[in-house]
Amino acid sequence: MKHKEEKIESHLIGRFGNPGTGPAIICLGGIHGDEKAGVHAIESVLNEIDQLDLSSFFGELIGLKGNISALEKDIRFIDRDFNRSWDIKNINKILSGGMTHLVSEDLEMIELYNEVKSIIQNAKGHPVFFLDLHTSTAKGSPFICFGDTIPNRNFAMKFPVPIILGLEEHLNKPLIEFMTELGCISMAVEGGQHHDVSSMQNLVSIIWLALTHENMINRREIPGINSHIARLQKAVNGLPMITEIKFRHEISPDDRFIMKSGYKNFQPIFPGEQIASDKSGAIKANILGRIILPLYQGLGNDGFFVGKEIKPFWFSVSVLLRKFRLDNLLPLFPGIRKSLDQKHTFILNKKLAKWLGFNFFHLFGYRLIPNTGQEILIKKRVHGNKITF
Ligand SMILES: [Zn+2]
Repeated sequence: MKHKEEKIESHLIGRFGNPGTGPAIICLGGIHGDEKAGVHAIESVLNEIDQLDLSSFFGELIGLKGNISALEKDIRFIDRDFNRSWDIKNINKILSGGMTHLVSEDLEMIELYNEVKSIIQNAKGHPVFFLDLHTSTAKGSPFICFGDTIPNRNFAMKFPVPIILGLEEHLNKPLIEFMTELGCISMAVEGGQHHDVSSMQNLVSIIWLALTHENMINRREIPGINSHIARLQKAVNGLPMITEIKFRHEISPDDRFIMKSGYKNFQPIFPGEQIASDKSGAIKANILGRIILPLYQGLGNDGFFVGKEIKPFWFSVSVLLRKFRLDNLLPLFPGIRKSLDQKHTFILNKKLAKWLGFNFFHLFGYRLIPNTGQEILIKKRVHGNKITF
């Protein structure tokens, strides 16, 4: 066990407004300790909003720090990636003393969970939004990703930046998924490269726009609101607005993974193109697509992702499928059955999963549950009702 029990430092960066008088927007920076731009963006907005002589403000803006110990050391994490393993069962087990070996991130998880819980309770039933602010080791335009529920999607689509779907599906219980389960409308934002000053500015613009989208503040009272929109539009110039992740190259430290230099987010790649190498030799693209989050000199187990553009038409199709709850018909397919012990979950036969492809199930709002052994499980993404409190 690490020596952190006596740690009392709060994750709170600052807060503005009055809880319970409107929506709450929680902005979290530095869930990865080498990504300080999010923390600086939150500080910048909180400082600026304090100086404004606002006629009104509804709700509350709350800024939180993620992995405090890793931020202090300027490293991605101490013992494990803090943007993984967010699970109420884990949390309850730690809280009840059922876990004997706790690492640094387990303790930070409990601190952050308690703070988030009290923010949600103080919102008194008003919607709670959660923005998880990141930067990446590679250059490239900002983008947003989220678990594809209709409320998350409606919120994310208000921002003039590209959307990436399915990224969280490849990660093991990231924080935005947990926050969605707690009932929050959640998204992660990649601002740009770690130390590029424009990354921090992009995240600042996202926070201001979030406040206006939810009518917490009159947009005319925000200095330079149009320049915030223009900055984001300029940064994403010409990129597809919706991209879906098709492939993740997972790595371990023993792989000696090296990304070929010069790739940036959304850069097109072609089958057969060498994009990285490891101890086994060249790593080549296997599909035509766009590279997302190529890893340069960083800790972590995501080497890179490959995404493909999807047309907004499919968004409309999925709205209809979900509106009429057509997922209730899925068990009529031979090879799909309801899980008896897990809510909102289906068990797929491997042949059928291969034939239909996971995109088919994404349309209904389901995601693949990774690492479930022989069976293929898909689970509906649902907004929780905070009953876990
Ligand atoms: Zn990150």
